[in-house]
Amino acid sequence: MQIRKDPISLNWVIQEDGETTWPNLKGCPYCPGQEALTPQTIYSHTGALGGWDVRVTPHLRPLYRIEGDVQRSGEGVYDRMRNLGAHEVVIENPDHRLRLSHLSDENIAQVVRAFVSRIVDLKKDRRFRYVSVFRNQGKLAGQDPDHPHSQITATPFIPRRIVYELRSLQRYFSVKERCLICDIAQQEIAKQERTVEWDDEFVAYCPFASRVPYEMWILPVNHGCAFEEDMITWERQLHFARFLKSVLLRLETVAQDYHLVLHTTPNSTAKFERSDLWRTLRDDFHWHFELVPVRLSTARSYFLKEVYYNSVLPERAAEELRKVNIEELTHA
Ligand SMILES: [Zn+2]
Ligand SMILES: [Zn+2]
Ligand SMILES: [Zn+2]
Repeated sequence: MQIRKDPISLNWVIQEDGETTWPNLKGCPYCPGQEALTPQTIYSHTGALGGWDVRVTPHLRPLYRIEGDVQRSGEGVYDRMRNLGAHEVVIENPDHRLRLSHLSDENIAQVVRAFVSRIVDLKKDRRFRYVSVFRNQGKLAGQDPDHPHSQITATPFIPRRIVYELRSLQRYFSVKERCLICDIAQQEIAKQERTVEWDDEFVAYCPFASRVPYEMWILPVNHGCAFEEDMITWERQLHFARFLKSVLLRLETVAQDYHLVLHTTPNSTAKFERSDLWRTLRDDFHWHFELVPVRLSTARSYFLKEVYYNSVLPERAAEELRKVNIEELTHA
């Protein structure tokens, strides 16, 4: 496997010659008792009953390999590198059938804590410029296997969408000396047209230009650039867990399948990083989760995803999601 960069769009693309298949396994490798089917345990938390309730292990079909160095090379105008990186799986709970939104607050908080621990650890590796955390829920979102899990990757490059966000937020800050996402959050909370849920610590809203019906962003009300720095106390993790659970339950009344992606700061201690590039990073970047539902009924594949088509106005989507009775859902 190798990674190639498109010199025009600046997209990094993982190139493989024929898709590797899942190793032939008897049963689910993420269920308790099956630990020997996975390479090793990188992180785990022991639950009340003595077994693990959250476990992190290397991906069985990794997109990236952790050993060696990146071996950047050129071919005329083109750039390529080895698929150096980390690819891990966060097994969110022992129960094969329990999706994230159905876990206890404490269990979700332990998943959040696992994210924090892995991001901090992977950012110590100066070969990596960015650590991504994401989860695909449901077949439409490409979840594979069924056992509830999130994924973490660490890469020697910053994904293109993050680069765009970094530049855009930096530009806004250089003009206004304010964080754009703080400004957006304040405006959304004041207007309450697109907010879905908020309290004194977190807010969830449907973005003004939502890409798909019921898209939501979840972020801290007060400025925080890095998720892993903002989310260190158990109280904060537990508070966020409750908030996330509620937002997911709302979403699942309209869409069962979704992508959940964390956007946090890049690794500013990475090798060869130009320090002036991140001069205002702490003030201009604001971590957030992007929650992007996948619904077959509204899928209208559009020209290479460069322009999105959304058939549900964000104001209407937010209104519908706000009305969901969470009490009823959790006590059903
Ligand atoms: Zn399982
Ligand atoms: Zn901010
Ligand atoms: Zn983002």
